[in-house]
Amino acid sequence: MKKIIVAIDGYSACGKSSTAKAVASFLSYAYIDTGAMYRAVTLYFLDNYIDLTNPKSISTGLSNIEIDFHRNPKNNQNETFLNGLNVEKNIRDMRVSGKVSEVSTVREVRIAMVAQQQKMGKHKGIVMDGRDIGTVVFPQAELKIFMNADFDVRAERRQKELLKKGELIELDKIKENLAKRDHIDTTREESPLTKAKGGIEIDTTHLTFDEQVEQIIHLAQNEMIKT
Ligand code: C5P
Repeated sequence: MKKIIVAIDGYSACGKSSTAKAVASFLSYAYIDTGAMYRAVTLYFLDNYIDLTNPKSISTGLSNIEIDFHRNPKNNQNETFLNGLNVEKNIRDMRVSGKVSEVSTVREVRIAMVAQQQKMGKHKGIVMDGRDIGTVVFPQAELKIFMNADFDVRAERRQKELLKKGELIELDKIKENLAKRDHIDTTREESPLTKAKGGIEIDTTHLTFDEQVEQIIHLAQNEMIKT
C-alpha cells in the first residue's frame, strides 16, 4: 500500500492530538504534533525574554532553537525536546498556553516551523496535526481532516486532560484561554485556521474517542489503496 500524508487541523482541545497519535500508531506512521513545536518556541521566547516587536530579537531567538521529538520507552510516547532538554511537561502549562497563539502569529516563527515540518513529511507515512497542515504545510496531502467540537465539550475535555497531568484549572479559566486562542488562530493574517480545500470535517462532540479514530483510519485506508 502506498504511504500517504494525513493532515489533521482543527480547534484547540477537540481531540486532534490524541486522535492523530492513535491513527499514526495503527498505521505504523510517524506522528508530529506541530502545536508542541509552537509551544517549544514560546517556552524559549518566554524564558529568554524575546521581544515580539523586535525582528532581530526574534531571528536571533529562532536561530538558537532546536526542536526534536524522542520516544519515551516507558510510555511509548513521543516527547518534545528543546535544545536537548525534555520540555514535554513545561510546554503544556498555562504560562505557555497563554502566550503560544500570540507567538504563532509571527511570520518568521511560522516560516521556520513550516520548513521543519515539510522536511519531516518528505517521505510521507506521517500523521501531522495543527492549524495549517492541510492549508499551508501539506496542501497536497492525500487526506485532510478538519476537526471540531462544541466549545463547552472542548473546555471540559481540556480540563480533564490537565487534571490527569496533575494541574487543576478552573473551567472558566480554560474557557477564557480557548476562546482567546480560537480568536487569534482564526483571525490572524498568517495561515489562519480554516478548513483546507478538499478537507473532510469531523465534529467530535458526540463521538467517542474510538469512533473518531476509526473514522480517520477508514478514510486513510481508502486513500492508501487508491493508485
Ligand atoms: O495544538 P495546540 O493546542 O497544542 O497548539 C497550540 C497553539 O499553537 C495553537 O493555539 C496555535 O496558536 C498554534 N499552532 C499554530 N499552528 C500549528 C499548530 C499550533 O499556529 N500548526
